[in-house]
Amino acid sequence: MSELTELYKQMTGCRLCEISKTRTHVVPGEGTESPEILFIGEAPGFHEDQMGRPFVGPAGQFLDKMLGSINLKRHQVHIVNVIKCRPPNNREPQPDEIENCRPWLDKQIKLLNPKMIVTLGRYSMLKFFPGKSISKIHGTGIKQNGITYFAMYHPAAALHQQSLREVIEQDMLKIPAYLAEAKKAEEAAVKPEKSPVQQLSMF
Ligand code: URA
Repeated sequence: MSELTELYKQMTGCRLCEISKTRTHVVPGEGTESPEILFIGEAPGFHEDQMGRPFVGPAGQFLDKMLGSINLKRHQVHIVNVIKCRPPNNREPQPDEIENCRPWLDKQIKLLNPKMIVTLGRYSMLKFFPGKSISKIHGTGIKQNGITYFAMYHPAAALHQQSLREVIEQDMLKIPAYLAEAKKAEEAAVKPEKSPVQQLSMF
């Protein structure tokens, strides 16, 4: 069993928060175990709670469609949430819930080791862009310690506010260029300078 599978198994037994009593399923996350991009949403909703999988409701369908717009399928990325249990009536995650789930999320990031983290909505944005406003920084990225962080509005925002739909779709289209840049920088960092003799020996 992979370390990630082991971690996800441990998560299903977590009882740190009150909301563990009302959940149907814990929603650890899903996708490839070696993603270039990790998407981080807010919290499971009704459908996610029922199925134990992230982003499977209407917001998830929109996310899948946007992934398609950059030629990605969900199995090629990894998708998680800031908190792993559904808050009753889809209320906002509380500070203690975010804090209790923080070690799970940090371990996920460590094991998945993505080149790029895309935050979906305010709660995941605040983890990496503290004090920032999503209306100001959506569609922009920063690089820190070898990871590119890119902020987006939550896909559900497009469902509630039609005017944001195009903004979110346009932001998604910026991801490939950020990823290409991140990969280029990584390659440049690991590629040792070759002497002419070493270069010749390649043939
Ligand atoms: N919204 C989220 O933030 N996460 C999900 O998994 C579903 C909806």
